[in-house]
Amino acid sequence: MHCVVIGGGLSGLASALWLSEAGHRVTLLERRGSLGGRTTAIPLDIVDDVPDNGQHVFASGYVHLMRYLDSVGTRESVCFPGHMTVRMPGGGTRRSAFGRVAGLRADKPDISSAKVPADLLVTGIREARRTKTPISIGYPTVDLDTLFIDGAKKAFANNGVEVRHRAVVAGVEVVDGTVAGVILNDGERIPAGAVICAVPVWNVKGLLDQVPGHERIYEAIEHLTPVPIVSVNLYLDRSIGMTDWGEILYGGEGVLEQVWDRQQMHSRNASRNHFYSTTVSAAYELTQKSNAEITETQMDMLRRYYPDAAGAEVIHSHVVRMPKSTFAQRPGSSGIRPDQRTAVAGLALAGDWTRTDWTTTMEGACQSAARAVDVILDYANQPR
Ligand SMILES: Cc1cc2nc3c(=O)[nH]c(=O)nc-3n(C[C@H](O)[C@H](O)[C@H](O)COP(=O)(O)OP(=O)(O)OC[C@H]3O[C@@H](n4cnc5c(N)ncnc54)[C@H](O)[C@@H]3O)c2cc1C
Repeated sequence: MHCVVIGGGLSGLASALWLSEAGHRVTLLERRGSLGGRTTAIPLDIVDDVPDNGQHVFASGYVHLMRYLDSVGTRESVCFPGHMTVRMPGGGTRRSAFGRVAGLRADKPDISSAKVPADLLVTGIREARRTKTPISIGYPTVDLDTLFIDGAKKAFANNGVEVRHRAVVAGVEVVDGTVAGVILNDGERIPAGAVICAVPVWNVKGLLDQVPGHERIYEAIEHLTPVPIVSVNLYLDRSIGMTDWGEILYGGEGVLEQVWDRQQMHSRNASRNHFYSTTVSAAYELTQKSNAEITETQMDMLRRYYPDAAGAEVIHSHVVRMPKSTFAQRPGSSGIRPDQRTAVAGLALAGDWTRTDWTTTMEGACQSAARAVDVILDYANQPR
C-alpha cells in the first residue's frame, strides 16, 4: 500500500519508518528544508560546534522513543546517570528525587491544568513499577541530528522511503469515507492508500476539512496553546564549576531554569571554550527581549548560582527562541486530545498533541506514531 506521512518531526519520522518496516511504500512530506521538526541540531561554524535548538531530556519510561532509536541505531547514545542536581543561589547543591522528575518541561501553574503533571506522575510511576527501575532522567550524548535524523535517512534509503522537502500539505482528500490522498499547497495531488497526518496542533487547521467530525479535532487548537522555550548556547572562556551534567536552579525567576554542561554530557573537549546551555521554560516575557538582553539575563543568572562564573567572558552566545515548543493544556480541557483513529478509513493522526499516556514530549510523539501505524496496519489487513 502507498502510505503518505505528513510532517517530518519525530512522530512523522517514526510513522514513516515503522510503516516501511512493515513492508509498505512510504512518501514522507515535510514543509521545511530539513527533517526533525522541534528536535534539531543547529551547526554553528563560528565556534565549529553543533548545538541543539534546545536541550532535550529523556525519562526512563520513554519506551516508544527507545524503539525509534533502535530502528535508527542510536540507542547507545542516550545515557541515564540516575541523578540531577538542584543548585541554590550562591552555589550550594542538593541531589534530590525532585531533580529526577523536574527535568521535564513546565508551564506557568496559574494557567495550565494540574491534571497534566498529575497524569505524568502516574505514567512515570506505572512505568517504574512495570520496569522495576526508579524514574530517572537521561540525556543524549550526541547532537539531535546525529541522534534522530542521520540513522533515519539511512533506514529510509534502505526501505525505499521517499522524502520530499518543502512539500506543504494543504489538505487530506477523502472519497466516500475513505482516504484518497493529499493535496499540496501548489495544487499537486498525491494519491495514497493510507495517510498519517503528523503535524503539530497549531498547523492542523484546514488539513482535515473533508474529515467528518473535524470540528471536534480542531477544538484542540483552542485548548492546547503554545508554550515558548528560550535556550541560550553559551560558549565561555572558562568552566563555571558545574558538579552535575544538568542542574535545576532553585528559586529562579521563571517557572523552571536549567543549565546543561556539554563537556560532561558529550565528553566535549574544552580546550577552545566551555559550552553551557541554559533553558528557560514558559519564557513568555524573555522571548520578547533582544538577544543581547537575553544573554545578559542568563549570564547574570549563572553568576548568581556559580561563583566560578563571576569573571567569565562570553566568547559566543547563540539564542534560540522557540515560541511554539510545547503546548499547555488549559484547565477543563481533559479529553480534548483526539484519538489517532479518525472517522475516515485509512487516515490516522499522530503528533505529541494527540491522545497518549504522556504530555507534550518526544515519547508522546513516538507513542502516537506507534498507535497511528497500528491503525493503518489494521486497515491494510482488512479485506476489501
Ligand atoms: C526547546 C524544546 C525543548 C524540549 N524539551 C523536551 C524534553 O526535554 N523532553 C521531551 O520529551 N520533549 C521535549 N520537547 C518537546 C518535543 O520536542 C516535542 O514534543 C516533539 O518533538 C514533537 O514531535 P512531533 O512530531 O509531534 O511534532 P514536530 O516536531 O513539530 O513535527 C511536525 C512536523 O510537521 C511539519 N509540518 C507542519 N505542517 C505541515 C504541512 N502542512 N505539510 C507538511 N509538513 C508540515 C513541521 O514542519 C514539522 O517538521 C521540547 C521541545 C522544544 C522545542
